Amino acid sequence: MTNSPSPFHRGEQKIQQQLGVREQMERFGSRVIRDHMPQQHRDFYRQLPFVFAGHADAQGWPWASMLFNRSEFISAPDSKTLTIDTLPVSGDPLAASLSAGTKLGLLGIELPTRRRNRLAAHIVESDEAGIRLQVDQCFGNCPQYIQSRELSWLPQATLTEPVSTALTVLDQRARDLIEASDTFFVASYVDTGSKQASDGADVSHRGGRPGFVRVDNNSRLTIPDYLGNNHFNTFGNFIENSRAGLLFLDFESGHLLTLTGTVEILWDSPEAQHFDGAERLWQFTIDHGHFIEHALPMRWSTVDYSPNTLLTGTWVDAEQTRLAEAQRQQWLAYRVKAVAQESSVIKSFYLEPESGGLAPFKPGQFLTVKLDIDGKNTIRTYTVSSAPSDPELRISVKRELGVDENSPQGLFSNHIHQRLQVGDTIYAKAPCGAFTFDAAEPRPAVLLAGGVGITPMVAMARHALAEGLRTRQLRSTTIIAAASNIEQRAFFTELADIEQQSGGGIRSFWALGEVDSSLQLGRDYHLQGRIAAPLLQAILPLDDYDFYLCGPASFMQSMYAMLRELGVSDARIVAEEFGPASLKRDSDRASETFESVAAASEAVVEFSDSNMEQAWTSGDGSLLEFAEAHGLTPEFGCRSGQCGACKVALVAGSVSYLTEPSSPLAADEVLMCCAVPAAVAGQDVVKLALKL
Ligand SMILES: Cc1cc2nc3c(=O)[nH]c(=O)nc-3n(C[C@H](O)[C@H](O)[C@H](O)COP(=O)(O)OP(=O)(O)OC[C@H]3O[C@@H](n4cnc5c(N)ncnc54)[C@H](O)[C@@H]3O)c2cc1C
Repeated sequence: MTNSPSPFHRGEQKIQQQLGVREQMERFGSRVIRDHMPQQHRDFYRQLPFVFAGHADAQGWPWASMLFNRSEFISAPDSKTLTIDTLPVSGDPLAASLSAGTKLGLLGIELPTRRRNRLAAHIVESDEAGIRLQVDQCFGNCPQYIQSRELSWLPQATLTEPVSTALTVLDQRARDLIEASDTFFVASYVDTGSKQASDGADVSHRGGRPGFVRVDNNSRLTIPDYLGNNHFNTFGNFIENSRAGLLFLDFESGHLLTLTGTVEILWDSPEAQHFDGAERLWQFTIDHGHFIEHALPMRWSTVDYSPNTLLTGTWVDAEQTRLAEAQRQQWLAYRVKAVAQESSVIKSFYLEPESGGLAPFKPGQFLTVKLDIDGKNTIRTYTVSSAPSDPELRISVKRELGVDENSPQGLFSNHIHQRLQVGDTIYAKAPCGAFTFDAAEPRPAVLLAGGVGITPMVAMARHALAEGLRTRQLRSTTIIAAASNIEQRAFFTELADIEQQSGGGIRSFWALGEVDSSLQLGRDYHLQGRIAAPLLQAILPLDDYDFYLCGPASFMQSMYAMLRELGVSDARIVAEEFGPASLKRDSDRASETFESVAAASEAVVEFSDSNMEQAWTSGDGSLLEFAEAHGLTPEFGCRSGQCGACKVALVAGSVSYLTEPSSPLAADEVLMCCAVPAAVAGQDVVKLALKL
């Protein structure tokens, strides 16, 4: 770092440090934050019909204001001077502070194009015609969360005089405006005594979906803080001076609500976890303010939401998410909203909760679903193929057609392919599972899918794209999918769209078992036959990747062997099977292989609720198979230790696990699908009792 003063003051630097972006921001800030306006910025201000200004009044209360004029009113005669030929609207506290030396933060914002620019300046002089400012700092800002709107001026003859009402609490009119707002402006002020340009007033834009600001009571607001430019101009000021000014605009009626008060930053509030896009929260408590009726002589056309805004939540959504999280272990009703044919054998079902919201989940996790089939509750597990940011849950189910009487058609998959329709209800527990993808991980990812094993990969690709848009940091992701033929190639178009929207950062390649002359290599598929090392070597630049595998057992085993031969370490390969885990790993990490306590060879198993005691031997298989063999019908789902549907309470004795259960288990619970009675030293025949 150089010796020249930092463009950031102590408070901004402290937050940048706390969030691990300090050095990067210092390098970036010293390049983009200037002490003058380049020509491009001077031209930008000149054509604006309005600007926002932040200042602190004589008592130190910050205020955000709007300055406007029908005709061109801003000029920049040189790179350090800005003149504003207008005065604040009647009732705006800025009018009393227009003396030489007052520090102003300015925000130029062009709503139709979402362009914006920030200035820190101080007043050189002002008179009844306007204000002359000297520029201290100037920098461009990205268009995140700005809703675009077109402005139109009202005919002069139709205007009425602004009427200002003083407030010390939020009255109903103020609350209604805040609750309907998708935009507001926040002023903050700092004087660290450094006499640097970074001290002074700031005014910032805040955007979200209507309902993103919660009115807690007649004096307090709670507001999410979304990912921004990491300058932390506003929060940096807040930690030095916990006062702020808020300005809400009624775009339809032309009223202004200007408030000043105190703020508190909630760095780790659990409420933020349920609010889509919220990195943290802050609360504003009003000290005083004004509702200025008919303040604005202009109106705006209907809003066009910024793509970033659409990825964020509202307080109503957040509350529903919190409730869904609290009901994680319960069966909840979902309505089938849409059904889509993805390939000749895969159908997608879009599910929305019949009441409340969706519990948070990670891409790659699965949903445990339940339907009454022929009078019997039937449970299965299906990976969620949508991303956490999508409005509905989507599962994509392959119809298991069956081969012969020894391998009949699948019960659940055929039932829902043939019977489940839009408007029907299906029951599900919240998604869970350990096969998950972190879009913030810098290491590139390669997702290898066989057949219906594409479902978690689609969720991961959708999530990588959504997070890439939200954070402007895309995790490089390559999907390599295998399908028997073109008819079974599911999600081809969806993945191609993702590739296009990600600018090629998320790519997809296809290996088809059978091809015909109508298909074009490089367009419809990239390899005929099985996925093999030369394809990976051709499309993956030399790098350190995380590999994800999902597909039939034979596919997974061959992909695993191929990766190991290519020198990929076992730790870099994660895998999900749609059945009992069978992938044999040639592990580099001997200590991490799963070992349960020794299994018994003979036992007496009591099913206490059924008043039944039976002799079990090791040939009888898992406790689930044993119970079924004796005519009991316990609930089950994945039969592979993942979904938790066959969990029962342990009454006496202990169990050994054949494979490691990934579903969370308490000490007194047993996952019957992968458990057998455990051996007890000195006992030839052990005793086990389960509550079933
Ligand atoms: C974590 C996880 C995620 C999953 N994600 C997906 C997904 O995204 N999409 C998807 O399509 N599937 C997924 N599955 C698989 C899914 O849960 C079901 O197993 C699958 O749909 C088959 O269910 P079914 O009721 O149609 O078949 P079942 O009736 O359970 O039959 C399954 C197989 O057993 C055979 N079989 C049935 N009865 C007999 C019998 N009496 N004797 C011999 N063989 C028999 C059938 O021929 C069939 O091949 C996932 C599984 C897990 C564990």
